Amino acid sequence: MAQLFFRYGAMASGKSIEIIKVAHNYETQGRKVLLLTNALDDRSGVGTVTSRIGMQRPARAVSSTDNIFDLVKNSESIAAVLIDEAQFLTKEQVLQLTQVVDELHIPTLAFGLKNDAFNNLFPGSEALLIYADKIEEMKTLCSFCDRKAVMNLRFVDGKPVYEGEQIQIGGDEAYMPVCRMHYNHPDLEALARRSGK
Ligand SMILES: [Zn+2]
Repeated sequence: MAQLFFRYGAMASGKSIEIIKVAHNYETQGRKVLLLTNALDDRSGVGTVTSRIGMQRPARAVSSTDNIFDLVKNSESIAAVLIDEAQFLTKEQVLQLTQVVDELHIPTLAFGLKNDAFNNLFPGSEALLIYADKIEEMKTLCSFCDRKAVMNLRFVDGKPVYEGEQIQIGGDEAYMPVCRMHYNHPDLEALARRSGK
């Protein structure tokens, strides 16, 4: 029976590499997957799933107005739907994913972040936590210690920030996966030593 999966994890927990792996597994069996990512702006089109270790694949970039159910329905012989950056889906799009699973019987795997840099659920993640059949955490370590990273600390110009827009596009920001303790108390000296400053 087809199911809707939500696999969430902090930054750098291997979500994109897992998608590329799952897609590869289907394709070696001669089965077709529909690979989606988020356009983040209003232009749907060609996007990429990019992993930090350098592997990447083209994917269809969906914008918030795209109907994913229609997209899948109009594609031929799709064996699975794989979605990167699923945190940016709208609630309506997550409901469309449940239709893909329940009406078209196509397994659907959504990968994304759970909470934003200020520890609020992303809309897509909130809906997926409610509607997914299976929820799995992808684990990675804190950037500063051996605890599990459960939050994403945003840095702007090398400094941690605790307020701002949920989605910052085109800014000069970076993120680090961190445990709760290091979210509130990042070891900035260790960071400076690492970057050689
Ligand atoms: Zn830590």
